[in-house]
Amino acid sequence: MTKPRLGIFSLTGCAGDQLQILNMEDELLNLVARFHIVDFQEGSSHKESGPIDIAFVEGSVSTETDLRHLKEIRERSSVLIAFGNCATDGCVQAMRNGETTLAQRLKDVYGVEPDYYDALESKPIREYVKVDFSIPGCPVEKDEVVKAITSLLHGDSPLGYSYPVCVECKLHEYPCVIVEDNKPCLGPVVRAGCEARCPGLGLDCIGCRGPVEDGSNFAAELQMLLDKGYTEEFIMNRLRIFSGELPEDFLGGAK
Ligand code: SF4
Ligand code: SF4
Repeated sequence: MTKPRLGIFSLTGCAGDQLQILNMEDELLNLVARFHIVDFQEGSSHKESGPIDIAFVEGSVSTETDLRHLKEIRERSSVLIAFGNCATDGCVQAMRNGETTLAQRLKDVYGVEPDYYDALESKPIREYVKVDFSIPGCPVEKDEVVKAITSLLHGDSPLGYSYPVCVECKLHEYPCVIVEDNKPCLGPVVRAGCEARCPGLGLDCIGCRGPVEDGSNFAAELQMLLDKGYTEEFIMNRLRIFSGELPEDFLGGAK
């Protein structure tokens, strides 16, 4: 039987999600055996042209080069998966979008003029191409990657998480760190899928899986944390570290 052709690509990001694949020590050989890998930047210098059955795309679109690369990948691929929070939400490089101009940020941070390189305002990949499925996380969860790949190999669409971290936190019966310790947990408005790792350790969620699409009420979360004495600037900065430029429908009436 012909093996599906798999491509794993990077745009602008830290390549931590590709590293998560390489860290899948128990599953890596099985994975490699089931696919014909045509591109895997962090794993091999081998590259092939031609069609791709499944493309994982990590990183945000932050340069004209990224954008050209992304469009080429989309044209070649039957299924395109946004892989990690830079790809799904823009992540840290999109954190200040909308606050100042790109030209000003390039000057403030790098001391260069806008034409120094082919920079674009950092955006999640869905802003430019159709995305068939998203695997969020900074970095992605290995279990979620394995489940998604298994579904795809069976011809099924992988399941995402449409509910927030609080749901998993309650399922594990962890004490709520907002209620118990007044910590500024973002669990009510952040995608589940990590088994509420941080509250399980007594820590507040800092939102590394990005904003949950459904079932959250950010205006209520904001008001609750304001009532506890946190400033709006602190809350928004914390949320935008991994969530980039938040969509208006997520913010609702909150901002
Ligand atoms: S600790 Fe955080 S994730 Fe857990 S229930 Fe409280 S707010 Fe939700
Ligand atoms: S920061 Fe939040 S989403 Fe990320 S691992 Fe911790 S609990 Fe999960």
